[in-house]
Amino acid sequence: MNVFLLAHTPEPDALVAAAAKICYRDITAGELLKGEEKNLSRELIADLFKSGHLSTFEHVSFTFAIDGLSRVASHQLVRHRLASFSQQSQRYVKMKYDPEAVIIPDAIKNNPEAEKIFTEAVKKSQEAYKNLIELGIAKEDARFILPHGHSTRLVLTMNARELHHFFSLRLCRRAQWEIHELARQMLALCREKAPVLFEKAGPACIFGKCNEARSCGRPYKNMEDLLFD
Ligand SMILES: Cc1cc2nc3c(=O)[nH]c(=O)nc-3n(C[C@H](O)[C@H](O)[C@H](O)COP(=O)(O)OP(=O)(O)OC[C@H]3O[C@@H](n4cnc5c(N)ncnc54)[C@H](O)[C@@H]3O)c2cc1C
Repeated sequence: MNVFLLAHTPEPDALVAAAAKICYRDITAGELLKGEEKNLSRELIADLFKSGHLSTFEHVSFTFAIDGLSRVASHQLVRHRLASFSQQSQRYVKMKYDPEAVIIPDAIKNNPEAEKIFTEAVKKSQEAYKNLIELGIAKEDARFILPHGHSTRLVLTMNARELHHFFSLRLCRRAQWEIHELARQMLALCREKAPVLFEKAGPACIFGKCNEARSCGRPYKNMEDLLFD
């Protein structure tokens, strides 16, 4: 899976702090971004978090390009309704007749017998797809035979509030492994550009309390644990 940060709102930490300042201080619009200090942003953003005043996070957005994600994972991803998506179309783009175009879970890759079953099934479905296309069947109909694990490409935009929500759900150890890995890479990229806004992010355990009905029993100890485990 490849995840690239294509674009983001400039100075994300300072912008969210500016939104907080206009709410709570007697300050003019022209003064908002002047003389901003990192420590001040940290203090203001920590207060926003504490009070749940998260609409201020919506002023900042991040746009990612992703490829090598399965349609299994992208189906989960697009359930996040407050994000914007553009996904490669299987109606317009002919899919590759290549076993590598299908994502193989490690559990299957590491089991020779399972891998054989998987790759043979992929080969058969790709052959059927190719034969249907050659018969003149439209791509939008031929694709019905393709595996659910076929890789896809997307551009996605989320604001910082939605990103926090996404990270809270998808960085849980119980989330599906592929969307978990996507969320991990996205958070690492967000932290490079907005270290204060994403100083802490992730599932409830990172904030000290697991909300899962069936806990994994392995709460993250800290952000390093979450990002590099
Ligand atoms: C561990 C796990 C298991 C899951 N299992 C299943 C499953 O078995 N079947 C299944 O169908 N889905 C499943 N899902 C998907 C899940 O139900 C959500 O669709 C998905 O996680 C997106 O979350 P969301 O709706 O909170 O987020 P978003 O769509 O990103 O919305 C963000 C927030 O905005 C608010 N919001 C958005 N739209 C509305 C609205 N119309 N009305 C009121 N408030 C709104 C809510 O507060 C919401 O949390 C699962 C998700 C997880 C993390």
